Amino acid sequence: MCAMCNIPSHIDDPSYRYKMPKLQTRIEGRGNGIKTNMVNVCDIARSLKTNPAYITKFMGAELGALSSYSVEEEKSIVNGAHETSTGQSMVDKFIDKFVLCPNCRLPETDMIVKKGFLCAGCKACGWSGDLDNGHKLVKFILQNPPGSSGGGGGDGGGKKGKGDRREKQRERAKKKKEKKKDKKAKDESDDDDDDDSEDAGASRKASKEKGDDDDLNFTDEVIKESIARVRKLIQEAEGKGKPMGAEKFFDEVRMIQIQNSFSAKLRLYVALEGVCGDNMLPDKVKAKMPYWKKLIATPPMAISDILYAFEVYYVENPKNRKQYPMVLKELYGADQLPEAELLKHYAKENDSDGFEDAKTAAKPFLDWLQQEDSESSEDDEDDDEDVDVDDI
Ligand SMILES: [Zn+2]
Repeated sequence: MCAMCNIPSHIDDPSYRYKMPKLQTRIEGRGNGIKTNMVNVCDIARSLKTNPAYITKFMGAELGALSSYSVEEEKSIVNGAHETSTGQSMVDKFIDKFVLCPNCRLPETDMIVKKGFLCAGCKACGWSGDLDNGHKLVKFILQNPPGSSGGGGGDGGGKKGKGDRREKQRERAKKKKEKKKDKKAKDESDDDDDDDSEDAGASRKASKEKGDDDDLNFTDEVIKESIARVRKLIQEAEGKGKPMGAEKFFDEVRMIQIQNSFSAKLRLYVALEGVCGDNMLPDKVKAKMPYWKKLIATPPMAISDILYAFEVYYVENPKNRKQYPMVLKELYGADQLPEAELLKHYAKENDSDGFEDAKTAAKPFLDWLQQEDSESSEDDEDDDEDVDVDDI
């Protein structure tokens, strides 16, 4: 057994729950070929759930020395003779920059590469954001991203349990997906309608079934926290005078979704609440259309799931309900709601949350659509962008 210390080692508390082995080193070679073997970097990396090559590379970069890590031999070498204490302080520095959450300081982050940037999310407090992308090590990480050979993984001494939970969550999500697929298959066999959104039937059915219980509910605390996080991100971006682009917005919301494993329909709801707050003005919906488009398209959402997000929004913000026709108009005008599916959705009975009230509120717009339909030829795919419902 090797000596253990806290993560990072300068925390004194003997009962601290995050532990790692203390660094052991051995000087090898002599003269110009002298080098330091960081003997147990592999074990340290396992405790930190990171890649031993990252730690090795980091030490080299900080010490201004060549370094190498051999995956086969699990051997970590930094050129030159270095004290064990120097090596240990490098490990701690690595931890500070790439393992600890900048917000809660716990070693509970998952490192990911997003669009060429190194980011992380914290499982303890929910923080997510960029890591120090200015550090030399980042280039190496981007070339050898987490999860690639020798990346993260291993069961860490101090942090066991959390990883298992995540595994389970992932499994759960997978199972759920399969379940949906089954439903879809079932639905297609007895579905004679002509809608071209292949998933619409399945999801409509899924949302009708109260047994859809492995998804979270829109009233859950986790969802409320997620909304608060989106709101904060928006405010911060606007505070800096740089409103988020759709891609960035999507990435942020997607990360929150992954951390809490909820469905795409709840993700859209979280985004609506986060962006519009308790006053979803049609103008705001229009102004942020790139956000909705990106969410609705990635992956393509069934219309019932899109509308679900609005329906539950109006459960939480009933005063906004009278604006629903204009909100629908904006989405319809931006080609986000195919007319036939929209009409079909509200032609049905459904006891899901907020459905009936939303249906009633939407009536003026739906009536207008139907009227338009009977007047014009049926071939109106994309020629009436300029919907005029101001007089409804
Ligand atoms: Zn944290």
